Amino acid sequence: MTMTRFEYTRPTALADALHDLAEYPEARVLAGGMSLLPLMKMELATPERLIDLGRVEELQGITEIADGIRIGAMTRHYRLAADALIARDASVVAQAAAHVGDPQVRHRGTIGGSLAHADPAADLPAAVLAADAVIEAASTAGTRMIPAADFFVGPLVTALQPGEMIVAVRVPRQRDRRQHYEKVPHPASGYAVVGVAVSLALAEGRVRDARIGVTGTAGHAFRARAAERVLEGESLTAALIAEASGLVADEAEILGDSVYASAEYRRHLLQVSLSRALQRVA
Ligand SMILES: Cc1cc2nc3c(=O)[nH]c(=O)nc-3n(C[C@H](O)[C@H](O)[C@H](O)COP(=O)(O)OP(=O)(O)OC[C@H]3O[C@@H](n4cnc5c(N)ncnc54)[C@H](O)[C@@H]3O)c2cc1C
Repeated sequence: MTMTRFEYTRPTALADALHDLAEYPEARVLAGGMSLLPLMKMELATPERLIDLGRVEELQGITEIADGIRIGAMTRHYRLAADALIARDASVVAQAAAHVGDPQVRHRGTIGGSLAHADPAADLPAAVLAADAVIEAASTAGTRMIPAADFFVGPLVTALQPGEMIVAVRVPRQRDRRQHYEKVPHPASGYAVVGVAVSLALAEGRVRDARIGVTGTAGHAFRARAAERVLEGESLTAALIAEASGLVADEAEILGDSVYASAEYRRHLLQVSLSRALQRVA
């Protein structure tokens, strides 16, 4: 395998990284390299400059904020899966991170890299949708907050603008919600053939608020709004779970392919996965 030549910088301050990104439009930021480096080796990505974020201190760390947790973009998957604060306040994120690839991938890959890459079969997009997280994006022009529901717009396409990078992910406190991530992994790659993240608030035996994030089945991860609406205000009975699971596959065009799964099979797995996730939280 070959790699075309590229310039390489390794800033230690966020301001310098943002300045580099603004100055070199053909640059790409490098996080864990788990998706970008394979693309470069195959020459499917040929950036003229890599801005390595590995030493930018401001992108590290998991901190408690007023209404939840702020997770630095360079937080690696294994840390998400093991952190006590995330386990307590955002367990759906921890569960999804524990499902990513294998130990090597989890020790290199980052939450910022995974969300920015927006692979249609990645795990964390479903979790941040169910958690109603907000993506903190920065450029030399300033910082803006992008709700997860608006972030994923197509296969490998996000709402990030040129010159912007993810700085952190803000996850509202989920402590009182019931959460579960259900995944059918591809046996070879580990990526989600289907992944369903559920976060429900219950009050007096009824669903007060439902959020369902789906990955693996469409061009990008999405919220299953019709299934959410059916659940809200109702008791989580077997009949209700069956009704919601029947609706979920109508929310987006379910894609089929010759490598992973046909559309029909994915549709079936999606319904089964949502049903299992809801049974778990019930
Ligand atoms: C063998 C293997 C198996 C895998 N299995 C799974 C799996 O089961 N589930 C799953 O979800 N993922 C899986 N992955 C992907 C893994 O989760 C990667 O970590 C992730 O997709 C990319 O994260 P990264 O930190 O490595 O980003 P990189 O590869 O460094 O970057 C990916 C892209 O995001 C951009 N980027 C990175 N950080 C930022 C930022 N802060 N702001 C803006 N843009 C940024 C880069 O410029 C690049 O375009 C697998 C990868 C491998 C190699």
